[in-house]
Amino acid sequence: MKALVYTANEEMTYRDEPEPDAAPGDALIAIEAVGICGSDMHAYLGHDERRVPPLILGHEAVGTVLAGDRAGQRVVLNPLITCGVCDQCLGGRQNLCAQRDLIGMYRAGAFAEKIAIPERNLIPVPDGMPAAHAALTEPGATGLHAVLLAEHVVSRPLSETSALVIGAGSVGLLTALVLRDKGVEHIVIAETNPLRRALVDQHCDFEVIDPLQDRPEAQGFDCVFDAVGGAATRASAIESVKSGGVIVHIGLMDNKGTMNVRAMTLREITFIGTYTYTPVDLRATLHKLHSGALGTLGWIEQRPLSDGALAFAELLQGRCAAPKVILGTGA
Ligand SMILES: [Zn+2]
Ligand SMILES: [Zn+2]
Repeated sequence: MKALVYTANEEMTYRDEPEPDAAPGDALIAIEAVGICGSDMHAYLGHDERRVPPLILGHEAVGTVLAGDRAGQRVVLNPLITCGVCDQCLGGRQNLCAQRDLIGMYRAGAFAEKIAIPERNLIPVPDGMPAAHAALTEPGATGLHAVLLAEHVVSRPLSETSALVIGAGSVGLLTALVLRDKGVEHIVIAETNPLRRALVDQHCDFEVIDPLQDRPEAQGFDCVFDAVGGAATRASAIESVKSGGVIVHIGLMDNKGTMNVRAMTLREITFIGTYTYTPVDLRATLHKLHSGALGTLGWIEQRPLSDGALAFAELLQGRCAAPKVILGTGA
C-alpha cells in the first residue's frame, strides 16, 4: 500500500509500505480522509521523542471497514487505544489510562491507504456525511473536552461568560465553535498568522485579533483557552483572565518559562490541564459536526495524500492559511 512516511526531520516520503497486520480484535480500515494535526507537525520537526522515524503519522482519520461483520461501514477512528479495565477507563476517563497508546505514535498511523485498529475504536459515521467533515471529530472532541472541563468550574452558566481562545489552528477554532454552540456570545480569538486570521474572518463570525499588535483585554475574560501552550501564551492567558476565572491549557508547544503563580494565587485563577477526549466526547462531536452546530466548516482544505509532503512544508513555513489540511487517499 501507499503511505506518507515521516522518514527524517522535516522529511515526509510518499512510498510503498507493507500492508498492515490485523491482530485479533482488530479491524482493517481503508482510509478516506485524515487531518494533519499540530502534533504531527511537532513530530515532523523532530520535537517529539515518542515519535521515532521511520513512522506513519496521522490520527484524525475516517475510513471504511474492509472485512468482517461491519464490512462497508464508514467509521471515524478513536485513535486513543486504552486498556479498558483500569479505574480510569472504567470511570469514563479513558484519556488518562496509564496504558494508553495512540495511532501514529508508537504504532503506525493513518497517513496511509490502510490501517489496522481495535474494532472497539470505531465510531459509525452518519449516512452521507462528507469524510473531510468527519475527520474533524478528533480535534473537535479535544475542544469539546476542554470546554466541558471549564464548564464544571465557572461560577456562572457558561453562556453568560466571555472567552478568549489563543490560537486559530483547528483545535482553537473548533473550541471557539463549541463555545458558540453553547451560547457564549463574547468570544475573541488571538492568532498571529495573518493568512489564517483572514481565512477565519472569511468563514466564521468571530472577533479575531493579532495578539502581537492588539493585546487581548487585560483581565477581560472569564475563560481563556490556550490552544498553543507556549511560555508566551501562558503568560498572556494569566494577563487576560479575570480574577476568579479559568485557564484551560490545551496545546503543549513547549514546557518552558515560569508562570506567575503569585497572580494566579492572589486572583484565584483556576488552571486546568487537558488531554484529548473520551469516547463520549468523540461521539458528541461527530454529531455536532454532522448537525451543523459547528458551522459550515468551509475553512478546511483538502489535498491528495500523495501531496502530503508539500502540505507539511507549507504548514511549517506558515504559508498555509487553512486551520486544517485534510489528506485524502481517494483524491
Ligand atoms: Zn490531533
Ligand atoms: Zn485503562
